Amino acid sequence: MGEKRVVILGAAGFIGSHLTDRFLAEGWTVLGVDNLITGTMRNLRHLEGNARFSFVNADICDGFGWVEGPVDAVLDFASPASPIDYLEKPFETLKVGSVGVEKALDLAWAKGATFLIASTSEVYGDPLEHPQKESYWGNVNPVGPRAVYDEAKRFAEAITMAYRRYRKVDTRIARIFNTYGPRMRLNDGRVVPTLVAQALRGEPLTVFGDGSQTRSFCYVDDNVDGMWRLLHSSEPDPVNIGNPHEMTILQFAKSVQRLCGRDVPIVHRPLPQDDPRVRQPDITRARTLLGWEPKVGFDEGMGRSIEWFRQQI
Ligand code: UDP
Repeated sequence: MGEKRVVILGAAGFIGSHLTDRFLAEGWTVLGVDNLITGTMRNLRHLEGNARFSFVNADICDGFGWVEGPVDAVLDFASPASPIDYLEKPFETLKVGSVGVEKALDLAWAKGATFLIASTSEVYGDPLEHPQKESYWGNVNPVGPRAVYDEAKRFAEAITMAYRRYRKVDTRIARIFNTYGPRMRLNDGRVVPTLVAQALRGEPLTVFGDGSQTRSFCYVDDNVDGMWRLLHSSEPDPVNIGNPHEMTILQFAKSVQRLCGRDVPIVHRPLPQDDPRVRQPDITRARTLLGWEPKVGFDEGMGRSIEWFRQQI
């Protein structure tokens, strides 16, 4: 049997580029696709000259008639994914999460490839069940500002299941919770890069609302290992991939002060509309079906990330 080949959509993005590294390290050939609206070639520069990696700058919504040769897997990580990105690019977000996913599924269907969609904890909206199990249907405001992302991802899950049921495509759905690590854009607006950059620059840390809302942060290497295992499983139903270590955003801000060694003040800013009050994955399914759980502790993962952010500043 020849080499395995994966098409990674959103390969120049934060998670996509780490996935690319993992599949190359495992001996696969990788075709990366990205239109660079939120991704950057800097995330792939270290792969220049790697004979098993190629890259095409394209919008996945335009389809994949140009992909030649066999494909074993299609991983769809192409989407703006931070709240400010998808609020600035609402139509691109809606389109890539609907038309784009359909085109990506068509590619997997045509090639007989396994398809994995990067879904999100945002499908649970502002959850009324806590922690969130995959069986929870969610509490999403369908007409609020976050709906451009949340509803697109809910549609993405639905069309993925339709291709499985009616077209027999072999599919996986990963519901990804807050993930952090090197290669996050410093200005993507998410709490990890924003507060770390503020601390490193000696600026006040902006905590939205009173900071009592919670999140659970997963280091990117753990996320990628979850994607690897999910692809190699045969699990068709959604699987949460995230770190159950939950904290309030105020606690997170204090950790940033401590880990950056900066005594910067904390200032409060208005809470964005529909900002989920709580979020924590129940990872029982990932544990039992994939033998997966996060390995990188918070201080360790934050230490590695802070080092990387420091180099960018
Ligand atoms: N947040 C904050 N200050 C910031 C950016 C975000 O307090 O500068 C809060 C935000 O309101 C949310 C949490 O941190 O409650 C996580 O936000 P992020 O944008 O990282 O991701 P989300 O989980 O909301 O998609």
